[in-house]
Amino acid sequence: MEDGGMGQRELQREVIDTHLCTGCGACVGLCPYQTSYHDRIILLHPCDIKVGRCYMFCPRTPTNLETMRKSLCEEKDLTPEIGAVKGFYLTRATDEQIRKDAQHGGSVTTLMTLALREGIIDTAIIAEGKENFLHRGVAVNDPAEVKKRGKSKFIVSPTVAEFNRAAKGEAKKIGVVATPCQVLALAKMRLKPVPVDEGNIDKLKLVIGLFCGWALSWRGFMELLRKKTGLDAVVGMDIPPRRHTLEVYTKDGTIEFSMEEVNSCIREACHYCFDTTAEFADISVGSARLPGRWEETRIWNQVIVRTQRGDDLVQLARAGGLLEFREAPGEALDELKKSAMEKKRTALKSIAARSGSSPDLLYLDRFDPVVRMLQG
Ligand SMILES: Cc1cc2nc3c(=O)[nH]c(=O)nc-3n(C[C@H](O)[C@H](O)[C@H](O)COP(=O)(O)OP(=O)(O)OC[C@H]3O[C@@H](n4cnc5c(N)ncnc54)[C@H](O)[C@@H]3O)c2cc1C
Ligand code: SF4
Ligand code: SF4
Repeated sequence: MEDGGMGQRELQREVIDTHLCTGCGACVGLCPYQTSYHDRIILLHPCDIKVGRCYMFCPRTPTNLETMRKSLCEEKDLTPEIGAVKGFYLTRATDEQIRKDAQHGGSVTTLMTLALREGIIDTAIIAEGKENFLHRGVAVNDPAEVKKRGKSKFIVSPTVAEFNRAAKGEAKKIGVVATPCQVLALAKMRLKPVPVDEGNIDKLKLVIGLFCGWALSWRGFMELLRKKTGLDAVVGMDIPPRRHTLEVYTKDGTIEFSMEEVNSCIREACHYCFDTTAEFADISVGSARLPGRWEETRIWNQVIVRTQRGDDLVQLARAGGLLEFREAPGEALDELKKSAMEKKRTALKSIAARSGSSPDLLYLDRFDPVVRMLQG
């Protein structure tokens, strides 16, 4: 980490007041002074500790991505666009019920339940959909509890706060399902910038990352949704690739929101986000891109395996017949890299526009090789 003398005051000034906060929850549960309320972080009491873990672990404080790549990934696997790639697959759960209750192919639920069943982890931290879309992270020990909580929540869940809570307790081996900003916070913890939490972060045995283009702000989206449907009627939602709409599934059918409508509800922090594929996870999972109808594509996942422990788990699922594999079209990986690079480019532009000067890239390092590549 670049900076040793920063705490709650700087977190508020640089991240929370400037709307760079992703709502990841990494600054919650480390001390009693911060909490998550709706999709925001509230400072309950001022803290004058000079080296705050909240500041250190926040994914929107200065971050040396290159140090992280070199420490957490094998150099031979690294790509500038999507981080480390040990393997790239199209998969789906063979269990039909898992697929039915999942967002896409159910690969995340399958891998997380397998990790629990095999004792690779004893606690899974996943997001739980709550009333009024105020989601939260929960720690579960029973694979059946993971299966009940499939599907994507497009309003943030402060999942890392639940990791902080569980890591202080009885859990010994924890697995987390996380969006890229949450994965980045966990990766910052794994570099152990402050010795006090070393035991806790060592309990982190598995990170399954979700691809993420953007998330919605709670307030903005609730207003938009209420214009077209009752909140209780919503049973799910998705962003089908190439269709440029947000589909909201209700008990009475599907409602489509155009990207013009959705844009005003995107969480501001997401405009400055540099990562689509959760580059520091063990395994990253997103929706598949296949030629043909979305209805057939949506039951498959694209899976990037990044680490040895990620590979071991995916191969275990293959050997046990829990995941079905299908050959990825030749251009799928290139398409993914292209869209990931596009998100980085857009984020850099938004960051420069925000800071008012291209050398000041807020939380990003202007000497980072991927940043330099994008800036030509
Ligand atoms: C905000 C958001 C934006 C996304 N954007 C894209 C995108 O642009 N392109 C793309 O390919 N994929 C995107 N995804 C990922 C995609 O929606 C699926 O999660 C992924 O394909 C895995 O599908 P699955 O069927 O294996 O998941 P499932 O088996 O249904 O499991 C999903 C798991 O994710 C957890 N989860 C759900 N929401 C959250 C959340 N907000 N934070 C942390 N954990 C959560 C659930 O608890 C569950 O364990 C996004 C996901 C989210 C949450
Ligand atoms: S981005 Fe995460 S760690 Fe940073 S202020 Fe927001 S919730 Fe806290
Ligand atoms: S776009 Fe980035 S900041 Fe926004 S939720 Fe996804 S990973 Fe987090």
